Amino acid sequence: MISSDPSCLFCKIIAQEVPSTKIYENESVYAFLDINPINLGHTLVVPKNHSENIHDISEEDATALMQAGKKIASALKKGLHADGVNLIMNNEKASGQIVFHAHLHIIPRLEADGFHHWRGKEFSKEEIEKAGEKIKNEIPL
Ligand code: 5GP
Ligand code: ZN
Repeated sequence: MISSDPSCLFCKIIAQEVPSTKIYENESVYAFLDINPINLGHTLVVPKNHSENIHDISEEDATALMQAGKKIASALKKGLHADGVNLIMNNEKASGQIVFHAHLHIIPRLEADGFHHWRGKEFSKEEIEKAGEKIKNEIPL
């Protein structure tokens, strides 16, 4: 039984109430082309169950998302002769998430596509280590 949110754009896409270009579908996920692609072939994979982001998605749906992402990433590489592929998930507004239904971006990359990676900031070794400790303390055993 799929749980959906009637006000959610991606739930409407999954239900075919809003049109999309389907790339792949199985019992757990739906994959379709992004309407505003970074490069041609930019695909979004979404769990059929509505969740907002990485924090509330079930472990089963998160696993299914990455399994489908792996298949599609390899298909993009072969089908479009991509030189590389980025898998990106934005979680919450501060990260750039604009559609609040969990999704994985599969973005084909070309050597000369002009995109660059984020630049790292300058932090002391102590600050880096301290951040690591704060994370480790929150990981359930
Ligand atoms: P976010 O920033 O939330 O990770 O990315 C949402 C993505 O959804 C954006 O890349 C945007 O272009 C895409 N998008 C937004 N509305 C639609 C739509 O109606 N159809 C499709 N196919 N993609 C959409
Ligand atoms: Zn939804």
